[in-house]
Amino acid sequence: MYKDSINNYLHTHHYNKINLKAVLFDMDGVLFDSMPYHAEAWHKVMCEHQMPLSREEAYLHEGRTGASTINIVCHREQNREASQEEIEAIYKEKTIAFNSFPEAKPMSGAKGTLEKVKASGLTPMVVTGSGQTSLLDRLENNFPHTFKQNLMVTAFDVKYGKPNPEPYLMALEKGNLKPNEAIVVENAPLGVEAGVAAGIFTIAVNTGPLDDKVLLDAGANLLFPSMQAFCNAWEELYKVLKE
Ligand code: CA
Repeated sequence: MYKDSINNYLHTHHYNKINLKAVLFDMDGVLFDSMPYHAEAWHKVMCEHQMPLSREEAYLHEGRTGASTINIVCHREQNREASQEEIEAIYKEKTIAFNSFPEAKPMSGAKGTLEKVKASGLTPMVVTGSGQTSLLDRLENNFPHTFKQNLMVTAFDVKYGKPNPEPYLMALEKGNLKPNEAIVVENAPLGVEAGVAAGIFTIAVNTGPLDDKVLLDAGANLLFPSMQAFCNAWEELYKVLKE
């Protein structure tokens, strides 16, 4: 199964092999079990601004910048462009709502995966559209000595955000990597699209309520039902990736 997926990827992108050096991890829904709180916060705050957004829709927008999400829903519900002041105010309220929830726990299986990745001699990197400093600051506490600050891509770096390949292209640049020297680990359809558009072998972990089909249709090269399942499969997958 892994071999077919890898061969398909190599064929599509005209590479001879994956020469793996780094693993690019998305943050929300991959490293932290934070998506239920994000979805709830988006739902609550957008409804208060007469821009109804269901929790499930929030999962479909996951990975976009806050500004893009607000603008898309504003267009649909109010048939107009959201103003800069409005975007800032809504995003601030959303952050306050998110931080009012209990602290999001590390995703089950994330720590084990990161340890295996490091033990394999690979560089783990974080690539996120998030600007939530409450989580970004916790990366070092929850996963000590894992991520180098100068190799991180966050909302403070990107202009377009996912599904644009920009965040992943930026990660390749920061890590001095070619697309076939990394793999992406993503939970959201737009994140998968971004990884695929950057030309990187992209693994989906379905940690949320969406159907597997949504992630496969976005172009995921492989799919695992959870981070724990990905962690459990690491040795076998890494063996095939190296071949
Ligand atoms: Ca995510």
